Amino acid sequence: MEHPLTAATTDALEQRLLRLESIVAAARTEQAGIVAELDTRQIPLADGCRSMREWLAGRLGVTNDTARSLSRLARSEHHDVRQMAGRGELSFDQTVEADRLAALVGERRAIEAAVTHDIAGMRRLTARHRRITPGDERDIFDGRHFVMQPNLDRTAYRAWGLLPGIDGSIVEKALFERADEFPTRPDGTQSPIGQRMADALVAVCQDSLTGETGTSGATLLATVFVDADLASATSGEAGATVAAGPKVGPLTLEEILCGGAVEVITTDCGRPTWSSQATRAIPPAVRKFVLHSDGGACTADGCSSRYRLQPHHVRRRADGGTHDPANLTTLCWFHHHIVIHRMGYHIDPNSPPQRRRFLRPTEVRGPP
Ligand SMILES: [Zn+2]
Ligand SMILES: [Zn+2]
Repeated sequence: MEHPLTAATTDALEQRLLRLESIVAAARTEQAGIVAELDTRQIPLADGCRSMREWLAGRLGVTNDTARSLSRLARSEHHDVRQMAGRGELSFDQTVEADRLAALVGERRAIEAAVTHDIAGMRRLTARHRRITPGDERDIFDGRHFVMQPNLDRTAYRAWGLLPGIDGSIVEKALFERADEFPTRPDGTQSPIGQRMADALVAVCQDSLTGETGTSGATLLATVFVDADLASATSGEAGATVAAGPKVGPLTLEEILCGGAVEVITTDCGRPTWSSQATRAIPPAVRKFVLHSDGGACTADGCSSRYRLQPHHVRRRADGGTHDPANLTTLCWFHHHIVIHRMGYHIDPNSPPQRRRFLRPTEVRGPP
């Protein structure tokens, strides 16, 4: 009868764990021998499978990874590696990795590496010695793609893709460098790296579309459709539709109204009932004056960014704030776009005009 685990010493438990791993490796190696024989009999093909891996995954109920390792080992010509596994001197994972490495650097060096390296170290060795043929390079190049998939109402996009190593590293470097330029958030922390990379991607694309103009504050002319009934019933959360563009929520709408030349068309049951003229929210002269008197830099305390400076209404337009220069302050793209209009911070009206501080986002927001 087995001794209860609770009575065993830790040392004994470890020894047993190791012994069982040896048994697993030895058993897998024995399986590999059987798989090799089945392979010569072309059993997978006879069963309508495209590969031994597929056949094994189905028959044994193992993952594709395990099936792949097993069929690899079955075809291995590295007898010393297999013998070590058969004697339980290598774990199954070490055996597979040693076999892979042996194909690149020879069996003797692979066995040395298996004894002195952990699995991750062996994988790094394998990756370093892996040969790249012109065919591999062409495959990677042919597989390059970048896909952006909007959801149904275009409130969000998903993006994914594949780039050859050198191109990927260029994109990564550019995004890292841009992300590094962003200031910290008002609470002194940085956004998580994934968010900063996303912001950096938008910033780089923005520059590509309009040129990197630090102080122009140029904004796109947008036509915004607002459904009057829905908007008042849901505090603006029914959203608005930008002409030929995405649907936006109340936060984005506020930003569009704050910065750009916009025409607002109010609709009722889908029919336009009221339309504002296309007007620049802030007259160009006032815009220039504010940027000038703020010294052409962001007024957020501690920020010296000059990237895409925008005048922002200290007291929101929706709360009766005017275009009076006293109510406008210059903010960089990060503080204006991310901190104010997306994270929901407000400018503290009592903070000095050249050292603006932020108030935490309030839970309750008025209708836009
Ligand atoms: Zn704003
Ligand atoms: Zn700033």
